[in-house]
Amino acid sequence: MDSILDWEEKVAELRRSKSEVYDILNQIYLHYSAEGTMIIPETFKDKALTYMGDKSLPSSEALERIENQRILKIYNKWTGEGTVFNSLRAQRPGLVIENKSKKLENLIKETEKNCDFCNPEKYTPEDPFGRIKGEHSITASNLAKYDVWSSLLIFRKHNPLDFNQWEISDYIDTAFNWFNRVYQYDSSYQFPFLVWNCLYKSGASQVHGHAQLLVTRDFPYAKIGNLYKAAHNYKDTYNKDYFKDLYYLHQALGLANSKGNVKILVNISPIKEKEILIISPDRPSSSPDAKEVVYQVLRCYIDVLGVESFNLAIQCPPINYENFPYIIKIVDRGKLFTKTVDMGGMELYGSSVASEDPYMVMKALREYLGKF
Ligand SMILES: [Zn+2]
Repeated sequence: MDSILDWEEKVAELRRSKSEVYDILNQIYLHYSAEGTMIIPETFKDKALTYMGDKSLPSSEALERIENQRILKIYNKWTGEGTVFNSLRAQRPGLVIENKSKKLENLIKETEKNCDFCNPEKYTPEDPFGRIKGEHSITASNLAKYDVWSSLLIFRKHNPLDFNQWEISDYIDTAFNWFNRVYQYDSSYQFPFLVWNCLYKSGASQVHGHAQLLVTRDFPYAKIGNLYKAAHNYKDTYNKDYFKDLYYLHQALGLANSKGNVKILVNISPIKEKEILIISPDRPSSSPDAKEVVYQVLRCYIDVLGVESFNLAIQCPPINYENFPYIIKIVDRGKLFTKTVDMGGMELYGSSVASEDPYMVMKALREYLGKF
């Protein structure tokens, strides 16, 4: 199988093909791959193999892999995002766990007993203009606001991992109806943002399925502003579209797919494990393709890749200035019942560290989305 750690070969291939894509790679990214080495004393060899050894290999080979670890470092010069890959880290102590689906089932059942979000009209506040109601979701004001306009999209179903295509479409429609309603109420609020934190590891405080809806004014949220800036600076420098080039590069690396005008990329500089970008030139609420892709990617995440907790964000252009695509980002936040946290000081103040191979994610997606 392809691996991101075969980076040097992939880059050499692009260079040999003399294609425009090789230039794009170096226009967008700084990158290198190298080996980190160590010497394991005789007395620690057994333990080291237990902690990090690849069980499918003879122990001498598994040990050699621990002693010589291939590292890939990728930095996006425009957005400032950077990731260090080391596939061995996935096996570090405390991270290899068995399937905890029974525990997850119990958590969902237990929390349903006294859940405010199961009765949103009784037990959540509403916005000054009331609520926006969809067939499978309803809005509520956020009791502890992130910002001036900060509300919740509460799904009808308690279990956030249980949704079908129609429900996802309805969540997206209701969210965009709420953005429009806020804009009608006060047109100085023009920067919409949606973020769905699914289950505790992603930052959610309630199990019941819900997303955060925000509209802000004057300037966008910091990371969305960075993205606008990156795209504008790239255009100024190369007179080319940043998102198109990003897609061409991922496609040439075998890490992209599309449905209609919606592009799907498994990010080579992910913020954390399995990050997927969905790029839609159209507002997702008016794009059946975007809705279908979001649904399929999430189902592949949960049903095939075993994701239990994730963040999904829709980074939107300003309302009435849609000269910028909608970027939907989805990232795995780790298993719910492990003590380890997926992000540490490296992610906050250094670069993201990723252990899962984007090619593994792409393989799962490609098999799941066979119709693409
Ligand atoms: Zn509930």
